[in-house]
Amino acid sequence: MNTVSFKGGLKLPVTGPGSGRPIIPVPPGEQVVVPMKQDLGPECEPVVKKKQMVQAGELIGKSPLEHGACLHAPVSGKVINVTKSFIHFSGKRMSAVILAKDGPTNKARRADGDDLLGSLFLGGLVDFDKDTVPLPIKLDEAKLNHVDSLIVNAMDVEPFFSSRIRVLTERLHDVLAGIKTVRDFLNIKQVFIVFDQELGGLISDHQIRNLGDVILVPLKYKYPQAIDYLLVKAVLGKEVMCTIPCRDIMHSQDIDGLVLSVDTLASLGSRLISTERVITVRDSSGRLDENVQVQIGTPVNKILETCSYQLDPESRIVAGGPMMGQTLADPMMPVTKDLQGIFILDKKHIIQSQPGTCIKCGLCVDVCPARLMPFMISGSVENAEYDQAQKYQLSSCFECGCCTYVCPSNIPLLHWIQFGKFEIFKQRSKL
Ligand code: SF4
Ligand code: SF4
Repeated sequence: MNTVSFKGGLKLPVTGPGSGRPIIPVPPGEQVVVPMKQDLGPECEPVVKKKQMVQAGELIGKSPLEHGACLHAPVSGKVINVTKSFIHFSGKRMSAVILAKDGPTNKARRADGDDLLGSLFLGGLVDFDKDTVPLPIKLDEAKLNHVDSLIVNAMDVEPFFSSRIRVLTERLHDVLAGIKTVRDFLNIKQVFIVFDQELGGLISDHQIRNLGDVILVPLKYKYPQAIDYLLVKAVLGKEVMCTIPCRDIMHSQDIDGLVLSVDTLASLGSRLISTERVITVRDSSGRLDENVQVQIGTPVNKILETCSYQLDPESRIVAGGPMMGQTLADPMMPVTKDLQGIFILDKKHIIQSQPGTCIKCGLCVDVCPARLMPFMISGSVENAEYDQAQKYQLSSCFECGCCTYVCPSNIPLLHWIQFGKFEIFKQRSKL
């Protein structure tokens, strides 16, 4: 079997027993909250009013972009509020539609638009990845760039998570239907499915026989191998310059190969309106390790309750994952399309540390998979020298957090980098 790797990164423990257990369906809560921005596109416009009755799958938020992703009611019920002051787990304020569930929730099939991109716009499909880009935008860009290779990513971006291998093995039929749709639309010549070589045993011989000419590529897991840029390099041998922009441009880097997560393809192949996703819920002490299928808008609390998990009030809930996630203030926060998973940090694993001074040890440079000099970027941002930070390629940081993880002086390098990107975005917005 073929295994490849990359320079830098971290060898972290990967998945636990949850990767071998079936996905657990979580019943939707009595009340669901649907934030109007769940991807890198602009906020959707709510198209429902307070007290209005809606059916599951009905349009409730319309994207202003031609190739954006709309939002739909995850449950049937009544709109009890349309607020403009919801705070998303990223800290951004936005509108949200709050629904009280009433009656059974039937899965709605996607309406046909004028073409595939129109159907995906109406169906609200996004690429369920770290950078959650509306799927019509990704496919449109891939078409413009004449991309002819598709990489199906069945490796979770965050360590400890295993939702994607579960989707691959439990929903292969839908995944293959999704691959066929993309293949026909883009005239794709070669398709690869990448997965963690340690989990290869979960794919049965019968499933391998059903893959046809799709090539399985087992990869040696080293964090953050599952990031698109590193996958293109690993599978196609092509260097892609990562330019995650200063939060002002939304585009993918699918120039040499289109990378889509396996759950995106399962969602595409199912032809259902996109109102649910599969995520991992895991804690740092090993008491919790499950993959769950959950409706968008369901509170995190409901997932923990379904998994019979007693949350210690002194634990910390991290939305997204242990390396790139953000602490949640409230367990009632809803699941959104851009939530990769839930990681609960036990109080015994919460370390309070004060940042020290950079001792120029170079560890952050050695570990950076993007081959940057994190201490120089961070130092420039700290001194508000944003032009200097740009010279050190701040935009090329894909925010994996490896530099922060290894820094012996506990310098929050990634936070400085993210702050720098935000400040540059603000400056450009004023021009
Ligand atoms: S500078 Fe960016 S890409 Fe490099 S290790 Fe730090 S977070 Fe990762
Ligand atoms: S790892 Fe920390 S102390 Fe070492 S060079 Fe980087 S920022 Fe400085």
